[in-house]
Amino acid sequence: MRALSPKFEGCLVIEGGGIVLYPPHEADTYFAQFQPRDGECADSLTRAEAEARILGDDPTVLSHTVLMAAESEDDWVEELCASLASHRDFHVRRNALFALGRLAHKKRPLNRESIQPIIERAMVDPNSYVAGQAANAAMVVEGDLRWVINAFDNGQPELEVTTYSNGWIKCPNCGWRYATYDPSAFREGRCMQCRQKLRVIPGAT
Ligand SMILES: [Zn+2]
Repeated sequence: MRALSPKFEGCLVIEGGGIVLYPPHEADTYFAQFQPRDGECADSLTRAEAEARILGDDPTVLSHTVLMAAESEDDWVEELCASLASHRDFHVRRNALFALGRLAHKKRPLNRESIQPIIERAMVDPNSYVAGQAANAAMVVEGDLRWVINAFDNGQPELEVTTYSNGWIKCPNCGWRYATYDPSAFREGRCMQCRQKLRVIPGAT
């Protein structure tokens, strides 16, 4: 996986009373290996049960509920995670961001228009646990849902590049050669290797 700017290096995550450091390149493994705790069958959580659990607004209950909900396949889960991502308690926010990442990892088609701003806001959360978890979620929505998170861009002005063969370019910033029609290499006007914004000018065909 590509290098990230220093502010996204490493993510501190509280788990089971301990603090675990997950480097960004392990974020995808992290989401894949997640197992709900407490011996509860997460996918048995219905919308009614989730709504009953959140009524008391108890941060401990909410933190757990949002993780359980993320194991469900139902549409209401995305909305629950989104609403809890701005909760006053940072444990709840952090777990809501984790849950969004978990949904993305399972390739659930999240609503980009509503969810991406939530993730991007959380990336600058004053609480580092929340910000770290949001960065994890951001990497997963980029990798699994093919979104583009602006905060990962390199911040340099857009450069022009001319195709040298049938849509292929050599990135003037990092030197990587790829087809501009390959979304894993080039998306939304960005080199996905170095995150340089590029304006592609058709040249040789
Ligand atoms: Zn590049």
